[in-house]
Amino acid sequence: MLLKVASRCNLNCTYCYVYNMGDDGWRSQPKRMSGSVQAAIFDQLEDLARLQDRPFSVVLHGGEPLLLGAERLDDLLGSLRGRLPSQCSLHLQTNGTLLDDEMLDICANYDVGISISLDGPEAANDRFRIDLKGKGSQARVMEAIQRVRAHPKAKELFSGLLAVVDPGTDPQEIYTFFKNTGTPSVDFLYRDGNHDLLPFGKATFDSTEYGQWMSKILDCYLADSAPPKIRVLDDMLKLILGGMARKEGVGLSEYGIVIIDTDGSINKNDTLKSAQSSADLFSSDWSVLEHSLHEIVNTAEFQAYHVAQNPSSAECRSCPHLAVCGGGMPAHRWRKDSEFDNPSVFCADQQFLIDRMRQWINGQYAAA
Ligand code: SF4
Repeated sequence: MLLKVASRCNLNCTYCYVYNMGDDGWRSQPKRMSGSVQAAIFDQLEDLARLQDRPFSVVLHGGEPLLLGAERLDDLLGSLRGRLPSQCSLHLQTNGTLLDDEMLDICANYDVGISISLDGPEAANDRFRIDLKGKGSQARVMEAIQRVRAHPKAKELFSGLLAVVDPGTDPQEIYTFFKNTGTPSVDFLYRDGNHDLLPFGKATFDSTEYGQWMSKILDCYLADSAPPKIRVLDDMLKLILGGMARKEGVGLSEYGIVIIDTDGSINKNDTLKSAQSSADLFSSDWSVLEHSLHEIVNTAEFQAYHVAQNPSSAECRSCPHLAVCGGGMPAHRWRKDSEFDNPSVFCADQQFLIDRMRQWINGQYAAA
């Protein structure tokens, strides 16, 4: 469950799929989630946890969720913690610039794991992650990382960093930088794009800039005896070895992330906005103010979305890498004429990376 508690952001990252990839849905959303929407969410989530008898994670997201302010954050997290079973974990995905000691204490009180977005050293980060005046954000985010690491409950609080890949950077330098931040984990995301709008830094559908970059990160990771965890690499390696992935975007597990916007409307994973405007909307006009979440997740329309990680294209269905790659993120399969019925725009990159992983596993790469 991703709760969009604030629909605006105090940064204006140039690659952001919410504000800068053609979808204007945020303009018509209330700036902050109201008390009445929050009250409906508490009821709905409590019912869902009881009726489906299976825990889920709740992630506060935005925009920038800390724009909610300390008092309202405290109320929101207190209610979620009080109403949901302890197996439902709470998380915060933040750009870090508003993460002061008061916010950290609130998160610590309610057992909230914090992930902070950061792309690397100043030059790499501040090329894209800028504020509304065009100023870089890296120095402020580094202060937030120091603050969370110095907190008495740092171990419970600090989940890790989330970085967007720029294949023009030096992967060895980026890996060393992240390791030196002391983060317990770093997750890498590819830049958004699709067959009609190639991702930044990718020359053609067949080129492998991202695959080569990630393979160098893989080499650093596997050669390091005390690395920070890299979730996407762990997931892919586990899948090659016959295990399961933990998050969406690789493998064939079903996820069906539910987004609840600031006005209470219920939508699909908002990364789909990068494919085309409104691609994240269900055809049904669902809202936590009027509809039961438990009933919604059992509709045919929601179930079709829930299995969307499983790709439909003939190339993917017959691909020897399918169980590991999973056709990539659904948003990255988009082409206007054939919609999502295509391999990922990162198909060649994923094949390159999976081949390197198999070489490592078979002992061929290390020996080479
Ligand atoms: S995107 Fe490419 S590598 Fe991935 S499953 Fe589809 S065809 Fe295979």
